[in-house]
Amino acid sequence: MLAHLYGVLSESLPRRKNSRLIFVPIATIGIAAILLAVLATVWAGAESDLAALERQKELVTTKLADQVNRVASDVAMVATGYTSLLPGSVAGGDDANQPEVRRFGETATAVFGFEQMLLVDRQGNLVFDDDAATTRRYQWVRPLLADLFDQVRNNNSEATAPAVTRAEILRLEGRASIVGMSPIVLSAGQDDPGEATAAQTDFYLIAFRFVDGIILDDLSREMGLKGARYARTIDAEDGEVAFQVEASATGDPIGVIIWTPDLPGSKVIERLTPYLAAAIAVIGILFWLLVLRLNRSWKELRRSEQHARELALQDVLTRLPNRELFARRLDECFTSASPDTSIVVGFIDLDRFKAVNDTFGHAAGDELIIKTAARMSEVVAARGTLARLGGDEFAVLLMVGKHEVAAQIEIFDRIVSEIHQPFALRQGEVTAHIGCSIGISTSTDHQCPPEELLRRADVSLYQAKARGRGCYVLYNAEIETGQRERERLIDDLRTELSQIEAASLSGNAAGAIYRPAFEVHFQTIHKAGDENSVSGAEALVRLASSSARPALAGQVHTDCRKQWTDRRTGHLHS
Ligand code: GH3
Ligand code: MG
Repeated sequence: MLAHLYGVLSESLPRRKNSRLIFVPIATIGIAAILLAVLATVWAGAESDLAALERQKELVTTKLADQVNRVASDVAMVATGYTSLLPGSVAGGDDANQPEVRRFGETATAVFGFEQMLLVDRQGNLVFDDDAATTRRYQWVRPLLADLFDQVRNNNSEATAPAVTRAEILRLEGRASIVGMSPIVLSAGQDDPGEATAAQTDFYLIAFRFVDGIILDDLSREMGLKGARYARTIDAEDGEVAFQVEASATGDPIGVIIWTPDLPGSKVIERLTPYLAAAIAVIGILFWLLVLRLNRSWKELRRSEQHARELALQDVLTRLPNRELFARRLDECFTSASPDTSIVVGFIDLDRFKAVNDTFGHAAGDELIIKTAARMSEVVAARGTLARLGGDEFAVLLMVGKHEVAAQIEIFDRIVSEIHQPFALRQGEVTAHIGCSIGISTSTDHQCPPEELLRRADVSLYQAKARGRGCYVLYNAEIETGQRERERLIDDLRTELSQIEAASLSGNAAGAIYRPAFEVHFQTIHKAGDENSVSGAEALVRLASSSARPALAGQVHTDCRKQWTDRRTGHLHS
């Protein structure tokens, strides 16, 4: 018992880390997952927008190139018309045809949507210069057209080379324009103008359209460019995209086409945003509920853990500290003890408790244990620790001033008298009379270790029982001496008895005589008033070497039941 009691002294329950820290990684993972989902959606939308924008810009480039080709083919077509009209009015010097040529020019300009059509000769001079406005306008644009004119003329300078029409993007009058230039072939007897050569070219037709006019309208219509407009510089507003128009020959920026692009990614994000927000809100709420739930579980866990800890240190029946807690408190006392303090340990065992169990039942026994615990608690109160060690065993631990030991021992006196009082059990149905025995040990200099203090209290308890119960015994060294003598005597008796037994067996066989160390002396017992009749005999066991020293005394009755009573213990033996 002592080894076990002290074996748990130094044990302490491991401290747990703060389990709430688990919420940090959970929250981080949750927030990271939501952020990742949002970022992935935004990124996918932005990529999709970028691709759509590139596609639209490529389309504008293609459509602009188409416009350049269209201007070229339109100019070539009109030039063909002039081929048949001009010989009569210009080459032959006959002015009668001129009105028809002019009408053709005006009609073609309107039909093909040209800003201006100009008819020039090989030197680049206007063929019809009687219109002052046209002449002035041509003077403005002529230097700008010089390069293109040279190219067309040079292209057509080879005698055998086929006539070539050219068109390109230029800045004219400060605006982006597509200019087309085509040679007009007037060679007599030529049936197919398409087969004309440069050497036959006498005139050139120049026509242009402004990009911000009909061309932008065409582009917007064909490509569905929302809010398309032309600007000289990039002044796009938020949500608009600017496409730079460059001169075909030099690549110089001329102006910009601005429109509100169709961005499918942004549209998807726009449509998804409410759903995404709702999903995030739901996930957030679920996550919060999860955290609350975890928090509640964590608290419950802590509570049940705390409860389990308390139970582990508590006696279930009496709610008193149990053996483990008592051992810890004893340890704490030794740790905090000073030269001015004494530690007092009292072991209490109920007297003849088993009889209550046997007579009134186990439940009544339990009730009695609870009631004795209550009475003892009242006595000990806050002055020390009262614990139930198990069964009908209790222990008291006191930490007192060095000179208060005697006064404090009074507690044990009170416990003895309290437990001696009758107990009403089973709601007053029965009354139990018990008592208690107490063994007390003290540590004043704190030299003896805790387990020795417990052992001494145990020895003292044994002594209290031996002295007849219902008392307390304070440990002293003589108790040990007397007990050791008794134990030695018992050992001697056992040895002697076994030797007698062995000698009688072997002696009978060999005829040897064994001299036992004990002698039994009988002393007759007579009934009062009848001295002659013997009613029994008292048997005295004496050491053979020291006949004056009775070891055991018993009474043998003549009624043949052969029972004797041990006077020391009071037990009846057969
Ligand atoms: P003694 O005077 O020498 O102390 O003898 P006792 O009758 O008190 O018996 P002892 O102390 O040797 O043994 C205690 C008994 O208490 C043993 C067991 O039957 C009984 N017991 C142990 N635990 C419990 C319990 O929790 N409830 C009840 N009702 N009885 C118990
Ligand atoms: Mg007992």
